[in-house]
Amino acid sequence: KRLSMQERNSVTILGCQVDRLTAAECLNHIGDLISRGKPAHIITLNAEIIYQAQTNLELRKIINEADIVTPDGIGVVWGGRQLGYEIKERVTGIDLLLDICRVAPARDWRIYLLGAAPGIASQAAQKLAADYPGLHICGTQHGYFKDEDMPALIAQINECRPHILFVCLGAPKQEIWIRQYMQHLMPTVCIGAGGSLDVIAGEKKRAPAWMIKLNLEWLYRLITEPSRWQRQLVLPKFVALVLKSKALAKLK
Ligand code: UDP
Repeated sequence: KRLSMQERNSVTILGCQVDRLTAAECLNHIGDLISRGKPAHIITLNAEIIYQAQTNLELRKIINEADIVTPDGIGVVWGGRQLGYEIKERVTGIDLLLDICRVAPARDWRIYLLGAAPGIASQAAQKLAADYPGLHICGTQHGYFKDEDMPALIAQINECRPHILFVCLGAPKQEIWIRQYMQHLMPTVCIGAGGSLDVIAGEKKRAPAWMIKLNLEWLYRLITEPSRWQRQLVLPKFVALVLKSKALAKLK
């Protein structure tokens, strides 16, 4: 059984379902899914992906059929508020990953890390194992594989029998990958977690806490990764779409 929309406390933002769950509630649901041996797809959604899902209907379907969709970026929280939905907090991929690693040893969860440049996933695994004693990272694999490598990769992941698979290929590549391959995996909770492994391995820095608190993490990334300028150009377009949707809702 999937979580009901009521349990997910979900709302719709520009046609995309977003769950109003706190990080603690997500963790509880993930625990339930694991104890019931259910495969699941968890998406941490940002405004860029909602914008892409306006024209990419396949992506929109993937989002709307996922088991849990968390509000990852401040754009999603803002968009929700504009449309009249209170969204308490952001739940980002890296926050979920660290929360899971914190509770995993006591619950005997095995974790697999997939993605990022060669060497990064194993570096991240070492760092996590040092930070969370008893943590069982059952496998790692970099994210630059070819289509023909897929059968071997799926077999390798299945051999490790992870309870949770973090897929860190960037959005929406990771969401499309999970959707395509989840059915070939043994039941596992698949979570798209973007650039988390780079941050954990120490390759990239996350914004300082005060910037995160002021909801300026996007600005930090814009400054430190100028190549993201192009990507973030969709943000004003997302804002315009939300405001239009709000105006239309008022007319109804
Ligand atoms: N990546 C990967 N395989 C690919 C493309 C990207 O493993 O084919 C990795 C990349 O090395 C980086 C992550 O995916 O670690 C993308 O990080 P980003 O911060 O851009 O994630 P997003 O903000 O898109 O979620």
